[in-house]
Amino acid sequence: MTHDLKDVIRKETARYSERLRKIASSLHEHPEISSREYQTAELLASELAAEGFAVERKAGGLDTAFVASYINNPKAPAIGLLAEFDALPEIGHACGHNLIAAASLGAAMVLKKVLPPELVNLKVFGTPAEETSGGKLPMLEQGVFSDTDVLMMFHPHTVTCGLRPCIGRTSLAFEFFGKSVHASTYPDRGINALDAVILTFNNINALRQQLRDGTRVHGIITDGGKLPNIIPDHARAEFFVRSSSKPYMEEIAQRVISCAQAGAKATGAELKISHPLPVYLPDIPVDSLIECFEENLRELGLAVDKLEPPLRMGSSDFGNVSQVIPSVMGFIKIAEEGTATHSRQFAEAAISERGILGMLNAVSALSMTAADILTVPGLLEKIRQDYKDRVVRA
Ligand SMILES: [Zn+2]
Ligand SMILES: [Zn+2]
Repeated sequence: MTHDLKDVIRKETARYSERLRKIASSLHEHPEISSREYQTAELLASELAAEGFAVERKAGGLDTAFVASYINNPKAPAIGLLAEFDALPEIGHACGHNLIAAASLGAAMVLKKVLPPELVNLKVFGTPAEETSGGKLPMLEQGVFSDTDVLMMFHPHTVTCGLRPCIGRTSLAFEFFGKSVHASTYPDRGINALDAVILTFNNINALRQQLRDGTRVHGIITDGGKLPNIIPDHARAEFFVRSSSKPYMEEIAQRVISCAQAGAKATGAELKISHPLPVYLPDIPVDSLIECFEENLRELGLAVDKLEPPLRMGSSDFGNVSQVIPSVMGFIKIAEEGTATHSRQFAEAAISERGILGMLNAVSALSMTAADILTVPGLLEKIRQDYKDRVVRA
């Protein structure tokens, strides 16, 4: 891309900066949790509508999802910007999704202004409930993202880079049914459902030694009985199993199920297995897309961090999307290393001057990357090829 266009992108970002700051601040002041982001979605959709974007609400059948499109040429490659916007209970925007939404809106507005009209085929996807049920999943199933060539977003963090891998996550609930009796008078007639849960935890802890590095298995007990003098006839535990490899995650999930089955067998309790949350898949990294984003971060004067193992990784419905469409989630540092996401400190960072500046840099970096994809000869083909190669290897 010409440097002229990059300069224009910076200038346009600056022109939108106060408006985007207000949007990010307003979201931060009125945090709404997953699937209840009504005011949030309305604000974002109306800002895009005011810029001439055609807004379709309730995308994928979700109350708070939307797609905002600005299309001059439907034959041009379609660039999609993902706007996550849900907050967390009690701690508000402690994942900084207010900045994600503002950045994706900003990039779409800037691109609409600076791209040659024949290259304008833009979409902003308002994607609810990243923190819980994963709004992108029904949107994906309903084909909301089809006809999009590349998807992009940024996430605020304590590092600046083009990739922090998402690991897959599968959820399991184990419900055990036993027989309650007086724990002192008739213990020999009871079936202890809580013991089945405790054995499940112990079995999983024995399994840990055999797990590959980077695998995560973590759980809680959601029902452990009612009174010490009643042998619990019902107990329940929930677990997440995570891995960067989808087949390995599935294999370990099966072994965790075996741990619960062994607990049921040992106690005589009956076991019911369910999956309370949808599966988040690992992401498919696209090297050429990541390099392009990082090059633009450098162009903006940002130092790109080289991540050293062990990596601290979470899971996102972004992973599922990236399994279907070449996608990039870039990261920009808005808080010092050691500040944990999902903490009150990170919620403060998400409204700080540094947070706003990070969001504005994200607007420029996303816009420059999209402009590169559309104007650098051969880049989109390279991205598609890298993507195919990665999918084959995954
Ligand atoms: Zn989060
Ligand atoms: Zn997040």
